[in-house]
Amino acid sequence: MPDDQNDGGATDGGATDGGTGNTDGGNNDGGNADGGGGETPPTVRTCGTMESYQLLVAADPQYADRLAALETTTTDYIALHAQDGDGSVMAARSGPIRIPVVVHVVYNDAASNISDAQVQSQIPVLNADYHKRNTDLKNCPKVWEGVVGDVNIEFYLATTDPTGAATNGITRTSTTVASFTDDNKVKSAATGGHDPWPTDTYLNIWVCKLASLLGYAQFPAGPAATDGVVILHTAFGTTGTAAAPFNLGRTATHEVGHWLNLRHIWGDVTDCSGTDFVSDTPNAGGPNYGKPTFPHVTCTNGPNGDMFVNFMDYVDDDTMVMFSKEQALRMQATLSGARSKLGGGP
Ligand SMILES: [Zn+2]
Repeated sequence: MPDDQNDGGATDGGATDGGTGNTDGGNNDGGNADGGGGETPPTVRTCGTMESYQLLVAADPQYADRLAALETTTTDYIALHAQDGDGSVMAARSGPIRIPVVVHVVYNDAASNISDAQVQSQIPVLNADYHKRNTDLKNCPKVWEGVVGDVNIEFYLATTDPTGAATNGITRTSTTVASFTDDNKVKSAATGGHDPWPTDTYLNIWVCKLASLLGYAQFPAGPAATDGVVILHTAFGTTGTAAAPFNLGRTATHEVGHWLNLRHIWGDVTDCSGTDFVSDTPNAGGPNYGKPTFPHVTCTNGPNGDMFVNFMDYVDDDTMVMFSKEQALRMQATLSGARSKLGGGP
């Protein structure tokens, strides 16, 4: 595989080596076979959050009960605050809430040892998307302009580590694991990854090679040892190895949404019977991929159809532009409850 080396270059090059097209000249599309840097970046979004959740529930059936109980308090919170009207009011805590982030880079070659610049490029994307300041919000169909929510959260790379020492908010771990999956092994040093920093006070993001998915997250109320989100290095940030159509940082926006208790907007079943527990996102018949054109009608949700521009759908990075107001309230409910210690809360 002659391409094993050529997309790595200097570790911190940060140049636009992109990974577009230079890795698939090989024979068998490999990808997960050798994992040696010759993997082909995904062309459609795949998220492992629900599968990861089911694996955790299989190991700890009470997790499902805890998440169901959280749904009750979330519903109460939304009922209480929906009357605020603009979906941006933090009653329990004055916003914006500032969340410290640690990024654990777990690599097995030069390419997956992504640069500091690539890590840093992710943060402004999160801050724009979670504060209704993303410039591509202008692409939102007019029918939903009044539904766009401001989550009122800000993120920053941690400046203090768990021992109190100064840090740039990035850890680096060399691994012999060719490619991880949604089994949480990247979250433990014992299985080739890196242990989390305290998950009640940091957002832990692991960036690595992933087989056949862009990322996955853990919902609130799950095991502390695996709490956080995992993202494929070619879908993280906006420079370095970030590769189109997932090179605008939206995989992290999507996965952090799950971490704050959002579901996919189609409710994870494809017969129109599912729910995302959010009333201002239309019922949808399944995920939308790529770059759909408005409207895409399913589940008798015409004339406007699916809210495929929502961050919790499966479209390309340049097509998802918004959270809804009630999604914002759900996330604020999480930060007032299950994740209340983040950002210096009680
Ligand atoms: Zn997802």
